Amino acid sequence: MQTQMLINGQLVEGLGSPYAVYNPSEGTVLVKIPEASKEQVDAAVIAADQAFESWSQTPPKDRARLLLTLAERIEAKAESLARLESQNCGKPFQATLDDEIPAIADVFRYFAGASRCLTGSAGGEYLPGHTSMIRRDPLGVVASIAPWNYPLMMLAWKLAPALAAGNCVVLKPSEQTPLTALELARLMVDLFPAGVVNILSGCGPSVGEPLVNHPKVRMVSLTGSIATGSKIIASTASSVKRTHMELGGKAPVLIFDDADIDDAVEGIRAFGFYNAGQDCTAACRLYVQDGVYDAFVSKLGEAVATLRHGLQDDPETELGPLITFDHLQRVEGFVERAKALPHIRVVTGGKRVEGAGFFFEPTVLADARQEDEIVQREVFGPVVSITRFSDEAQALAYANDSDYGLASSIWTKDIGRANRLASRLQYGCTWVNTHFMLVSEMPHGGMKQSGFGKDMSMYGLEDYTCVRHVMFKH
Ligand code: NAD
Repeated sequence: MQTQMLINGQLVEGLGSPYAVYNPSEGTVLVKIPEASKEQVDAAVIAADQAFESWSQTPPKDRARLLLTLAERIEAKAESLARLESQNCGKPFQATLDDEIPAIADVFRYFAGASRCLTGSAGGEYLPGHTSMIRRDPLGVVASIAPWNYPLMMLAWKLAPALAAGNCVVLKPSEQTPLTALELARLMVDLFPAGVVNILSGCGPSVGEPLVNHPKVRMVSLTGSIATGSKIIASTASSVKRTHMELGGKAPVLIFDDADIDDAVEGIRAFGFYNAGQDCTAACRLYVQDGVYDAFVSKLGEAVATLRHGLQDDPETELGPLITFDHLQRVEGFVERAKALPHIRVVTGGKRVEGAGFFFEPTVLADARQEDEIVQREVFGPVVSITRFSDEAQALAYANDSDYGLASSIWTKDIGRANRLASRLQYGCTWVNTHFMLVSEMPHGGMKQSGFGKDMSMYGLEDYTCVRHVMFKH
């Protein structure tokens, strides 16, 4: 198993303390990996800073060529990358291979093209005798910090736009799931010029903190929890670093009486429980209108009860485990506290699965109230709550009554209502009659405590640049 990091064009073993990486399906240690030492964090940032001069001046078409080659290498290694990712996360192997790897390669391809298509206002004479033009230039060294739920996908979302725009990157994957990032380090070692991409491994406090606080880092991009996001914003405030925050979510799903109920049930079965619900956009906070409430609850309960959890290599497995034992306990805590409320009805699931792995039953909790913790807080597990509403105004008020603002969906046949609500929902994305669908061309990112900045799309590329004005006196 590849455990070396990529620093300044070399694969090197970490010189810090070792940490254990688990297979969460079986609760076993896969490998122990040494963290980066403080000196190695420093070396990676210095290498990135030194590489910036040349990489930022490399024409977009040449940067694009390397990103396209990386996409090809990822596809050529699709099976082994998917195998590693599924082992380290417990994700079903086939879904990782079919859903995630093609999307990851596509992100690198998209940004390869996008790097050649940055736009801005036309140059002009806004002062007599002077010509102004707009530039979009890279920022320098970007520190990228990734989470554990889609390790390689989040790496792609961070690496591709930053490199395409001409920045150099030092990326730290989650300490829970570093394996595919380190494998990618091997695939990149002879590809990019030394220092352009550096991959470190290690924990938040010991490696993440010195990385984001390094004086040569100009921008910090995090996908992670709100707690980590606010810690990074606070610690980088004194050095006024640019930050890009993709944080938690608690997506409201508004299901109206006129919706196609079977479609909605099928959608929630898929999009509420994909990746065992460990997804910041998971369709987890359901609001269902009076007229269809009872029928919907019973149909969803039946559908969710058929979800099969199991080992990652079993082709029948639809649902993997939670990422760690701690996270299993956390999810269990949310469900136990909800179950203790007299009004909550457990429609299906509701407890952990006995055995070595960190599995929790796919769970539907009905009759939840707006003020309940299960409605207000991100669970990040295979758990959905259902709350009843009577009219559009109440549905909108419930949906927006949240600290989160990442994703939402509306299920209705009334196009006027869909547009009316979409314009008033305070979420970075609203889907109509679907949920969860992401494409490289469209932005993904939050409002409120879900963060700021966009992943993917031209907006994502622009986030990794600075708008500059250059003026010529004639
Ligand atoms: P986390 O915040 O615990 O960890 C994320 C990363 O931050 C890890 O690499 C960790 O080592 C690092 N880190 C922790 N403390 C740090 C510090 N002080 N300085 C620098 N780095 C530090 O989050 P997680 O548990 O890995 O991921 C789950 C969270 O991520 C959920 O809240 C989920 O909603 C969110 N998420 C959001 C999106 C999105 O697009 N908005 C996508 C995926 C996941």
